[in-house]
Amino acid sequence: MSDKHHDYTPSMPESASRPDLDIADCINETCPWSGKPVQADSLTEYDGNVVGFCNPGCRDQFETAIRHFEEAKDQPTE
Ligand SMILES: [Zn+2]
Repeated sequence: MSDKHHDYTPSMPESASRPDLDIADCINETCPWSGKPVQADSLTEYDGNVVGFCNPGCRDQFETAIRHFEEAKDQPTE
C-alpha cells in the first residue's frame, strides 16, 4: 500500500492564508478591529510576530496598512 498523501495546499488567490503561521504562535487572542477571537486562517506576520484576526478581511486591512507604512518608510525624508 503506497500511501502518498501530502497536504499540499492548492495555489490560492491573492488573499492567501499563511499555512506557515500557527495560531498557537499568535500573540493576540482577539481581533483588533472587532474584538472577536482570532481564526487560524486569518494570521499574518508583524515585526517577526504572528498576529491574528477574526477573518481574512480584517487581516487584509492590516496588511494594507503595513504596506502603506512600509512604503512611507522608503520615502526619503529631508
Ligand atoms: Zn476582525
